[in-house]
Amino acid sequence: MSHDASVGGGAPSKLVIRNIGLMLSGALEKPILDADAIVAIDGVIVAFGRGKDLDMTGATVVVDAHGSALTPGLIDGHVHPVAGDWTPRQNQLGWIDSCLHGGVTTMISAGEVHTPGRPRDIVGLKALAITAQRTFSAFRASGVKVHAGAPVIEHGMVEDDFRELAAAGVKLLGEVGLGSVKDGETAGQMVAWARKYGIQSTIHTGGPSIPGSGLIDKDVVLAADADIIGHINGGHTALPDNQIVCLCESCNRGLELVHNGNERAALLTLRTAKELKQLDRVILGTDAPAGSGVQPLGILRMISMLSSLGEVPAEIAFAFATGNTARLRNLDCGLIEVGRAADFVLLDRPQHSAGQTLLESVRLGDIPGVGMTVIDGQIRTGRSRNTPPAVAVPEIVNA
Ligand SMILES: [Zn+2]
Repeated sequence: MSHDASVGGGAPSKLVIRNIGLMLSGALEKPILDADAIVAIDGVIVAFGRGKDLDMTGATVVVDAHGSALTPGLIDGHVHPVAGDWTPRQNQLGWIDSCLHGGVTTMISAGEVHTPGRPRDIVGLKALAITAQRTFSAFRASGVKVHAGAPVIEHGMVEDDFRELAAAGVKLLGEVGLGSVKDGETAGQMVAWARKYGIQSTIHTGGPSIPGSGLIDKDVVLAADADIIGHINGGHTALPDNQIVCLCESCNRGLELVHNGNERAALLTLRTAKELKQLDRVILGTDAPAGSGVQPLGILRMISMLSSLGEVPAEIAFAFATGNTARLRNLDCGLIEVGRAADFVLLDRPQHSAGQTLLESVRLGDIPGVGMTVIDGQIRTGRSRNTPPAVAVPEIVNA
């Protein structure tokens, strides 16, 4: 659908989706719900369960899922936006809209690092972060929620800079390590200041991603103690296996696996987290746009890759990209719960998959077909232009 500057508001609306074949909750502890219908009012989930038990009267929009599955909208926990729906890294327009067609309804900035001429001085980097926070919260490309405004820390910042950023609405740090701060001691101090003022943090892990960034090894990651171990599978270049395992075992921070990273290292991380019984730490991102470009299906590809090669049930892999991220990042979406944002993806197995169900096809490594996306209770896209076509496709039956 077209780009849209609206953010919520408008007349009261009631969305009903019925005949859902499978409802994924996004929660590891109970990934599949006993439900075939969901109701949202004014963009918030108010009920879900068996259709016969729900009040579906007075709906402004009714969708017949025709047996499609429903999952919370996917969250790409690691993106590098710049301005609106443009990325200068590959000079591409419409990349956010393309990702929406891959089921992504929320994105989290790991820094606006591809901004041409990105300021490195302290007042400049603060101004850029505040500008990004303002512009992405005032304008949603195709409705996608982009949490942006993530300063890249530089030497010379003092506690008051973090207080000032927080007061101005900044809630994230860009990847620690992409700026001049690459030592554990300084990084740890600045991450602690950020945390004190409610700013979440992430760190670049592994070798340099693009000319100008550097190596961040396990000792720096542990000393920095950021909330998320950003691309623990490298972005692109991964740390040695023993360092990855050490990071999993030595702290309880988020373990982020990205599409632009090393797939073998992602599988090692997943296996280690499974052995530690800490799958709740695993979250997904693409790290796009970047040198590897934009992957509109990157999160779906990660889900299929981790489920098929990492041998986790598909419904668990979906939770990595939804509920896990929502919990670690304190988001109001990502889980099917009353009171959460009505951000959904309707999807089904792709046509001619060897898998007979959505979950089986993902487990076999196929990419699902997206039939519809919903953000804040508003239908944003119909059948995806990017995924393989799904067998079952939802339909608006009364709008
Ligand atoms: Zn990085």
